[in-house]
Amino acid sequence: MIELAEVTKRYGTATAVDRVSFSVSRGEVVVLLGGSGSGKTTTLKMINRLIEPTAGTIRIDGREATQLPLHDLRRRIGYVSPQIGLSRHMTVARNIGVTPSLLGWDAARIHTKVDELLALCGLEPGRIRDRTPGELSGGQAQRVAVARALAAEPSIVLLDEPFGALDSITRERLQRSFLDLRRTLGFSAIFVTHDVVEALLLGDRIGVMQDGRLLQLAPGRELIRNPAHP
Ligand code: ADP
Ligand code: MG
Repeated sequence: MIELAEVTKRYGTATAVDRVSFSVSRGEVVVLLGGSGSGKTTTLKMINRLIEPTAGTIRIDGREATQLPLHDLRRRIGYVSPQIGLSRHMTVARNIGVTPSLLGWDAARIHTKVDELLALCGLEPGRIRDRTPGELSGGQAQRVAVARALAAEPSIVLLDEPFGALDSITRERLQRSFLDLRRTLGFSAIFVTHDVVEALLLGDRIGVMQDGRLLQLAPGRELIRNPAHP
């Protein structure tokens, strides 16, 4: 349902992503693992067209991403950025409801969806929905960011180091929540991290990136047993 073929991004003479090819099947979670500057974020942002590739093709549900209207792409693909990116002057409920509103859902349906997602993401709707982001802890804010990404019922979720800024106890809690969410909702996901333990915990398969190239893509166990690169 997500297919990348020879996807490349160049900035001048520098190559940020170099002929990356892989696919993610329905319900699968692929983790992209690599150090800073290895091309993880650029790869992710090309999938939802925040960045246009220099070369190669990306297909979403069998259709070329460049052929899909942008609003259609945004509906199919939820996105969690490292900066969280909640609007500070809007309540949690309004933040989560942004995309459903744009899609023309009525208020009752949005209200129900917001409370359902808050609960699924481990937050008490009654206590959280009317707060502003400034009234949340870091972990709560990141849960809200995940809920917002899931609001329009996307079949695909892209997560860019979503738990990277959190303390280790909070991070472990959110990792467990993520495992629960994928079991309940069954989305496909690409999850970017530089944390090997997180990659092994969350990924059905792990893609190792370095210098813009995808060195190996395999289940964690195989990666450890038979690494293609030191
Ligand atoms: P990662 O997310 O793995 O840390 P990125 O995808 O952000 O890596 O970056 C990959 C490479 O592309 C890095 O060398 C980075 O400096 C470069 N890069 C990213 N964005 C730009 C840009 N807008 N202009 C020039 N170079 C960029
Ligand atoms: Mg990055």
